[in-house]
Parts: sequence; C-alpha cells; structure tokens
Amino acid sequence: MSPDTQATEPPAHPGDPAPPMSAGPSRDALELIAEGVTDLAGFGIAAISVVRDDGKLELIAIAGDDEAAQTVRGRRTPVASLMKELEKADDWGLLKFIPHERLDLGTGEEAWGWVPDPTSLVPSDAADAWHPLDMLVAPLYDDTGKLRGTLAMDLPLDGRRPGAQQREVLQTYAEQAGRAVVTALEREALGEQVRLAEAARAIVRAASAQLSMDRILADSQQALVEGFEAQGMWLQTFDEDGQGTRAIYSSDGTKVELPAELVTVAETSARRAWSLQRVEIVSRDRPFGPTITAEQGDGILGFLASIGITSILFTPLGAGPECLGNLVLTRAAGQRDWTDHEAAAALDIGHDLGRAILNARTFEREHHLVEELQALDTYKSQLIATVSHELKNPLTAITGHLEMLEGAPDLSGTVQASLRAMDRGARRLAKVIDDLLLLSKVGDPHYPIITVPVDVRRTLEEVLDLSSVAAARKGLTFVTEAPDTPIVASGDPDELHRVLANLISNAVKYTADGRTVTLTLMHTDDGVVFRCADQGIGISEGDRAKLFQEFFRSTNPQAVAEPGTGLGLTIVKRIVGRHGGRIEVSSELGRGSTFTVTVPAA
Ligand code: ADP
Repeated sequence: MSPDTQATEPPAHPGDPAPPMSAGPSRDALELIAEGVTDLAGFGIAAISVVRDDGKLELIAIAGDDEAAQTVRGRRTPVASLMKELEKADDWGLLKFIPHERLDLGTGEEAWGWVPDPTSLVPSDAADAWHPLDMLVAPLYDDTGKLRGTLAMDLPLDGRRPGAQQREVLQTYAEQAGRAVVTALEREALGEQVRLAEAARAIVRAASAQLSMDRILADSQQALVEGFEAQGMWLQTFDEDGQGTRAIYSSDGTKVELPAELVTVAETSARRAWSLQRVEIVSRDRPFGPTITAEQGDGILGFLASIGITSILFTPLGAGPECLGNLVLTRAAGQRDWTDHEAAAALDIGHDLGRAILNARTFEREHHLVEELQALDTYKSQLIATVSHELKNPLTAITGHLEMLEGAPDLSGTVQASLRAMDRGARRLAKVIDDLLLLSKVGDPHYPIITVPVDVRRTLEEVLDLSSVAAARKGLTFVTEAPDTPIVASGDPDELHRVLANLISNAVKYTADGRTVTLTLMHTDDGVVFRCADQGIGISEGDRAKLFQEFFRSTNPQAVAEPGTGLGLTIVKRIVGRHGGRIEVSSELGRGSTFTVTVPAA
C-alpha cells in the first residue's frame, strides 16, 4: 500500500496554488530515482510526491506497474493524513514502515490510500510476508526540517517486507530523493518568479505607451506588485531640474511622506545606481550596495521598519544618460528575499518606465504649448474682429464724403483725379475690412452654420453674372458643364455664394486675356462637386503648400501684380471646412489651375 497513490483527490485543477511541475531536468531526476527503487531495490512500484502550498502531497514521478502509474499520477493527498499514520510507524531511519494492522485508511469520503488489486497479490504465510495494505514511505525534509515530499514504494517483488540489506539500498534512494525534491521545488519556484516578473514587465511595457504618468501607473501598478510578489510600491519622478519631489505614487493610493534626508538619499542613490546600471536591495539580511553608505542604509531601514516594511528593491528609472526617478518595491516581514532574476527584471522595467517618463514629459510640454498657441490664436481672431469693426465706421464716413465731393460742381481736373485715387484706395480698404470681418465670422466656432438646401446651379449663374464684366474686359470665355436638373447642396446660401465667387474671381484675375475658364457642377457619392479650371499662370508646388494660409500671396511676380488681400482662399477653406466638405487644388505653372470643392448634398 502506498500513501502517495491513493484516490481521495482529483488531479490538479485550474486555481490550484502551484502549476504542475513542468517536465525537465528536475522531473527527470525524480523519475530516475523512482526507477532505481523499482529496478534495483526490487519493488513493483515507486512514487515521489511533493508538498504543495495548500497542504497536499502531489504525486509527480512514478515508476513500475504502468497501469497503476496511469491511475495515480497527479493525485493529491492531505499531508495531515500521512502525518497521522507516521506516528504509528516503525522507524527504519529515513524510511517509515506501517504494517497493515496499524494502518487507518478511513472510510467513505475520508477514505484514502491505494490498494493494489487484491486478487493479484495474496500474502504468503511467511512471518515477514508483505501484506497488500502494508505501507512503506520516506518523508523527505529540507535543511530547515520542513516536509517537502515523500518517496513511497509498494509491491516488493519477493513478496516480503524488506530486510536489512534492502533497507540500506532504499535509505540511499531516500537521501537522493530528498535532495532532488528540494532542488525541483526551488527550480519550480524560480521559474514561477521569472514568469511573474516577465509578465509584469510586459504589462509595464504596454502601459508605457500611455502619455500621462497617472495613466501609466494606473495600468501597471497592480502588475508590478503582483509580478514581484511585493507588499507595495511607490514611484518617484524627478522634475526637469532633477529634483525628486515632483510626485510620489504609491500602490495603495496613500501619499508617501519621505523624511527630507531620505528624499536626498533616494535622489543621489538613484542617480548613482542609474550610472552603474544596477538596482539596490536594502534589507537587514544583506550588506548595503555601493550606492548607499552604511549610515544611510540604517536610516532607510529604520524608516521602513516604522511603516512595516522589511526590505526594498530600489530601482533607478532613466533614459539614455539621464536618471528620471526611482521605483521602490517593498516587502514586509515573512516575505521572501529578492532574487537576482527579479533584480534584473526590475532594472529592465527601470528603462521602460524611464522612457515613459520622458514621453509623458514631452507630451505635457507639447500640451502646454498647444494651449498657449490656441490662446494666442483666439486672441488674434478677437483682435482682427475688433480692429475691423473699428475701421469700418470711419471708412463709411470717408466714402460717404468722397461721394458728396465727387458730385460738387466746378472741380478742377487735378482735384477730380485725386478724388478718384482716394475712392480706389477707400474701396480696397473696404474690401480688406470686409474680408477680415468675414474671415473672423466663418472662423468663429460660436457662430454656427445654419444649413438649407441650396441649388448651386442658381448660385453659379448669379456669380457668373456678377463676374461677366471683369471677364469680358479680358476677353475670357466661361464654359459651364452642369446637368439640366437642380444640383442641391446642404449649406448656407451666402457662404456657398462666397466660395464660388472667390474661386471664379481668382480664375479671372490670374488668367491671361482671351483664355477659357471651365466651371463644372455634378453629383458624386461624396456630395455636390464644384470645379473651377482655368488656363492661367498656375501655382508652383511651394506656393500650393501655403495657399490657404491667411494673407498668403504668391511669390510669382505675375500674381503679385494683381490686387489682392491674400484672404480669399483662407475664407473659402474655412467655409468649406465648416460645411463638412473639402477643397483640392491641382496646378501646373504656366498652364493653369483647377480647384475642386466638395460639399454635402441636401
Ligand atoms: P488674393 O487673390 O486676394 O491674393 P487668395 O487667398 O484668393 O488671395 O489667393 C492667394 C494666392 O493664391 C494669390 O495671391 C495667388 O498667388 C494664388 N492664386 C489663387 N488662385 C489662383 C489661380 N486661379 N491661379 C493662380 N494663382 C492663384
């Protein structure tokens, strides 16, 4: 009968404290030891189990009878049941023997223990005959005297209880099994730490793509604490002057008030640790590393003890040569010491978080700048609107008086010429002011657009009527390509009128005498399309990039020769934009330009 090979527990299931020990060198060693017991010590079956955190023995290596092995592998027995039986055992050194007459296998739910098929094994009449319910087991302890596993055997090939010589062989296997089990469990624990720290690292790395420190912390805090099996953590970032008081984030949301001298120690240590590319473990159980003095270390430990922390993993955060903060992972009494692997993983995380701090800083700076620029833009728009209003009234007075004077009798030729010049100047001024007022109106988010169905064929006819005089003066021909049926857009009639008027007046202005300007209207899947194609001077690639900027006028002398404010296309673009449409331009210098506007259909 074997204590490890009974059927009270199902095999490990998800949620068990430890995952099944993976196959590998440790497991192989245990299998070999079990095989030694069956092949060389003469038992039909041998099994090795390990103690799990939940107080159960899990069978992880078995040799011998294949059928039995299949049924018992992975089974779990309460350690307590075994210990109770061991009290009644004969002490054979490392081996303990419980004859069947003393063994209590329980009944019903409580039943445990594995019994070989009784028909296959009939005990002989000899005094030292092995009974199918006899139990022979070696409890395996580590150096601290803690039970870590068992080696159990059953079905002696000679059908007898082991004699002195056989016990000696078994004793050797029990010693080996003890060492192998401890090693296997340590390996397993280390593998688990590696897995956890790597998982934490992956999460921190993903979180580092966030642009605010608060978000980065919110996303990675839990992973850091769990991944490092820490009690808590806090993180300090240095400000742009390198001062370490900017922010301390703590995993439980409380603010960590470090004594002033410790803030200084943390800063200087972080910088030194970053330049050495190492982490610092501060704990009573080890000497202090090179980044802190013994006196500082004692001070730190004293403070940590006052808040219930026994050791910390102190990690510098940085990017390139610059140290940008520090991460402190904490452990309390009863928690294990930090491993080398955890130290290495923490240093990697220091790089990831360092880069994240730098990103967050840059983003914050950009954010401020954008806000400043937006404020400046608002100020500029308000200034333009106010100044334009203020200019409009005196200008109205000027043009009114000019008209009066022009009607006066007996004006000399010189005076008439001066009055005409003043009139032209006043008109240009009025145009600039009107454009500025319109520009600030269509750029104002508080001035909403009210859309109605607009038949743009009618709008085009109106604009062409108004432009016909200027076109006729240059001998230009307008060609219109539009369907006979209405083309109805959704928009503000005056603003759409302005779009067509500006584009057509530019085409007329920047096209040489005698050429053609082609105007197209059509429906597409995107909406209503208006296209204005001229055979004019064209626009260079460099100019095209700035075409829609306020006050932009071409560098082309032929274009500058024409009067203009440089506001027409800016107004067009803003109107199209607030209609939810778009404008495109294609052009070739010396050959002409085509502007295409798309706005939503009604
Ligand atoms: P303005 O015509 O009052 O100068 P716009 O904003 O309407 O201002 O146009 C900006 C500049 O773009 C013009 O100065 C001109 O150089 C160029 N431009 C606009 N339309 C055309 C066109 N159809 N052909 C050539 N250049 C043009």
